[in-house]
Amino acid sequence: MAELGHAEVKAWLVERDPAALEGLWAEADRVRRERVGDAVHLRGLIEASNHCVRACHYCGLRAPSRLDRYRMTPEEILEAAREARRLGYGSVVIQAGEDPGLTEGLVAEAIRAIKADTPLAITLSLGERSDAELTTWKAAGADRYLLRFETSDPDLYHLIHPDLPGRAGDQARDRFAQLRRMRAMGYEIGSGVMVGIPGQTWDTLASDLLCFREFDLDMIGVGPFLPSPRTPMGGPDAAAYLAPRGQVPNDELTTLKAVALTRLLCPAANIPSTTALATLDREQGRELALQRGANVVMPNVTPLAYRVRYEIYPGKACVNETAAACQGCLEGRIRSLGRQVGRGPGGRVNTECQESATSAFYR
Ligand code: SAH
Repeated sequence: MAELGHAEVKAWLVERDPAALEGLWAEADRVRRERVGDAVHLRGLIEASNHCVRACHYCGLRAPSRLDRYRMTPEEILEAAREARRLGYGSVVIQAGEDPGLTEGLVAEAIRAIKADTPLAITLSLGERSDAELTTWKAAGADRYLLRFETSDPDLYHLIHPDLPGRAGDQARDRFAQLRRMRAMGYEIGSGVMVGIPGQTWDTLASDLLCFREFDLDMIGVGPFLPSPRTPMGGPDAAAYLAPRGQVPNDELTTLKAVALTRLLCPAANIPSTTALATLDREQGRELALQRGANVVMPNVTPLAYRVRYEIYPGKACVNETAAACQGCLEGRIRSLGRQVGRGPGGRVNTECQESATSAFYR
């Protein structure tokens, strides 16, 4: 069977005909049901630190931001993981800014404590870290690592990810290379991009989605870019970043098309319905993504006092809800779709990441 190629993916991304899009939604939903089933896996998100040494042009945690900074202790991280366990979640994601203060030893201690105390799978999302750290964390019990490559356009990548002082050309700066090394270490690997980041064209986004298939990713996060006034991309000079022609909008419809196409390109992947999409559409964002390819939600289990300070972008959905309230709301939303909450760690169901759309779908 033919594979979805660049031209087809781009054509779907710019498609506006509602009847044609109904076909895309239905196909993504069918492939999702057939390949990963009706379970929606819940991952408890632990935002372990908002310190960051980087200055990414889109992220509110960037080093120059004047934020009230915090870093959780291993005991606090364990307590948040226990909360996830009490709420019935099968895994946790420990995410943070790129924070050297989350040392190799501190993170390993937290991982070992969670593994000793709970059956939870552990995903790390701590940015670009050394092979020594990644190897130690794997040995301590980490199962998965999330590192979005953010864009497959090398010029845009370099424009928005300044080098650390004195570390230009460092091997650790190549996110694709880090993903490959982590796979070799035995991690399940996740990546993704933001939809509508300034400078992203339709061709770039189509290439991004095709990269997901090429890398045979286990987990893929795709959410809208939301401008933060703390960043150059959300400040007075934001317009200077826009692509002169074919700038992708950071809207809900385009994000949903990207989620649906991601499901068709990587049928067996775990794909979250992102908080960024729920922030854009608080009423229906979560549900629409779950009905158009997604099978994972990442409810926040960070203590409330820290959560409000983890301000990647403003107005984050669910920022003021307790973990328990969030769980009640989410489970209701999942059941209203005729789906169930997944039990167990919810890892990759098999290793294949290829086409499984019907031939009638190609045009
Ligand atoms: N320091 C880690 C975690 C970053 S936060 C890392 O670099 O991997 C997790 C994700 O949030 C990022 O990968 C990015 O894709 C997303 N993000 C950052 N700023 C955003 C913004 N302004 N709008 C939407 N998503 C954003």
